[in-house]
Amino acid sequence: MASSLQSLIHDDSRYQKSFHLFLERSSEHQCMQDFIDNTLPDILASIGDGKSHLNVIGVGSGDGEIDLKMLSKLHLRHPGATVDNEVVEPSSQQLHNYKVLASQKPGLDYVTFTWNKMTSSEFEQHWKAKKMTKKADFIHMIQMLYYVKDPEATVSFFRSLLNKNGKLLIILVSGESGWGNLWRTYRNELCNTEISQCVTTRDIKSFLDSKGVSYQNYMLPSQMDITECFSEGDEKGELLLDFLTEVLDFSNTASPELKAGVLELLRHPECSVESNGKVIFNNNLEVIVIN
Ligand code: SAH
Repeated sequence: MASSLQSLIHDDSRYQKSFHLFLERSSEHQCMQDFIDNTLPDILASIGDGKSHLNVIGVGSGDGEIDLKMLSKLHLRHPGATVDNEVVEPSSQQLHNYKVLASQKPGLDYVTFTWNKMTSSEFEQHWKAKKMTKKADFIHMIQMLYYVKDPEATVSFFRSLLNKNGKLLIILVSGESGWGNLWRTYRNELCNTEISQCVTTRDIKSFLDSKGVSYQNYMLPSQMDITECFSEGDEKGELLLDFLTEVLDFSNTASPELKAGVLELLRHPECSVESNGKVIFNNNLEVIVIN
């Protein structure tokens, strides 16, 4: 049961290792890159009302790779505007990596960074305690709502920070992805109840629908090669399994029944396609943009 399994997020170094392997084995960042190149510029065009200063908040920014790409699109759309960029990221390693990346990237002088080494709920407390009245033109939370206690409350808080014409962009796995199927079957066994990791865009969309909040959504087709998960004892396979289940050392801590069930489901047609000896997991993402 979930109580005896430890969450991967509590071991930052193993989390980072498995996340990086996941990025290597998947088209996760490529599909985001396509979206950033082809769709994001139009989304960003209408923010800011022609102001010469834009406020941006990145929540769960990781090493900033995606954030910096989005900032450069923002700059192209609003070339005369300076940008105040609040980064909210609890991992000191990731925050450090982001600072290094930002310092190496030329042409960022239009951006002022504020580094918040904290979780989104700590940021919320800090914001309320300081009675901040600043409003944001663009807020993004990319692949991070799995790690908060209450994803809906988190969305509501950040939505309340939006300026008129401001936009909140969320990226999560799609409800129809392999992840969605895995979580629908094993939610109780895998998901940590303290942090609701098993959230998909389906959950967020039904929450927004119930509140009558309008949004646009975009599907980002993506794949992940999980073949190594099926070689018993394979170190990379084990790291990928940790990432898929979000359980620390899943292969050695899950019961044999749970492990067998998860492995069987992972290669089931609902989650993956098999071709040329490879098992390719459906990693489809979805973007939600709230105005
Ligand atoms: N947005 C990046 C990183 C996604 S990984 C990308 O798409 O590449 C998820 C990130 O969320 C990690 O960097 C992790 O440290 C961060 N995170 C975990 N818990 C968080 C929380 N409660 N609040 C904000 N960020 C969190």
